[in-house]
Amino acid sequence: MRKTAKINIACPNQKCRFHNKKFQGNIKRNGFRKKLQNYKCITCEKQFIETIGTPLYHKKMRKKEIIRICELFTEKLSFRAVARATHHKLDTIRNLAEDMANHARQTNEFFLHDLKLNPIEVDEIWTFVKKNKKELPKNFARSVAMGIPTATLR
Ligand SMILES: [Zn+2]
Repeated sequence: MRKTAKINIACPNQKCRFHNKKFQGNIKRNGFRKKLQNYKCITCEKQFIETIGTPLYHKKMRKKEIIRICELFTEKLSFRAVARATHHKLDTIRNLAEDMANHARQTNEFFLHDLKLNPIEVDEIWTFVKKNKKELPKNFARSVAMGIPTATLR
């Protein structure tokens, strides 16, 4: 069997003993689905693909591109300006921001661990998204607060 302990992925199943806990040795690679790495949790037997619950899920956009857009978000450009600078449609940028807001907790995790942003930068992105989005999910503020290290909360 392949070594499982090193996989930097947590089980997305909320009922699982290892939900959101990485490096527990419960996740193994399990082939591919739609060209994305498929994983299986050997504890709860749930299968999932790598990017579930992050802004990357169901997105064709490359990680590098998302990083670039997030950097522009920290510069507080308008969505329109970000779209222009990255040659994406305005809707694409809006949808990405909406996805991020809808998965605020996982997005924080993604910002801090995958993109290696510091909490201040994360804070700036959320400030920007909040300002530019008319409608945010009801539990948005709470889910953001839950994911951000307390040092950044004011
Ligand atoms: Zn599990």
